[in-house]
Amino acid sequence: ERDAQYVISHIRTIPGFPKEGILFRDFMPVLADAKALKLLVDALEQTLPVPLDSFDAIAGLEARGFLFGPILATRLGKGFLAVRKAGKLPPETISESYDLEYGTAAVEVETDLVKPGMRVLIVDDLIATGGTAKAAADLIRRAGGSVVGFSFIMKLDGLNGLEQLGDVPSSTLVTMP
Ligand code: 5GP
Repeated sequence: ERDAQYVISHIRTIPGFPKEGILFRDFMPVLADAKALKLLVDALEQTLPVPLDSFDAIAGLEARGFLFGPILATRLGKGFLAVRKAGKLPPETISESYDLEYGTAAVEVETDLVKPGMRVLIVDDLIATGGTAKAAADLIRRAGGSVVGFSFIMKLDGLNGLEQLGDVPSSTLVTMP
């Protein structure tokens, strides 16, 4: 409807970033517009993949999951966990490696912030292959938490990213070609 169109019209596409052949989807203009930002957070709240009382915290993935994860957490009355790229956090952390197109990457979390049995909703701006989100989920589980859902703003069509996430419910606001 009109509100969704308003938000989507603030997502821009940058061809050739970070390398040739990639269509980079950029939601920074959504954040920059007061009405679009509010509608975005409203939409995320309304399309939660699981009931509000079925999770304790939101985990956001660096870097764009940091930009709206805490806003959503405040709105929902939850805490926020930062899942960072390797090497940025002081110990004690645990780390989960995953494959990139070329090479590997790793995500880390401060171990003691994931309480035993903590139920976590993972958020990020975009799911492509699903490798990042899957690594984050494995990390949260190894730290003693359970991953109850995923919430993404955008999904890239044709990459089957959500299939990497197993049986855990997910929501996405918009599918990008
Ligand atoms: P995946 O691991 O699912 O292949 O890639 C998703 C991760 O890469 C997310 O953390 C996401 O922010 C980033 N990413 C990949 N492609 C894009 C893109 O086109 N736009 C944005 N904003 N992020 C992307």
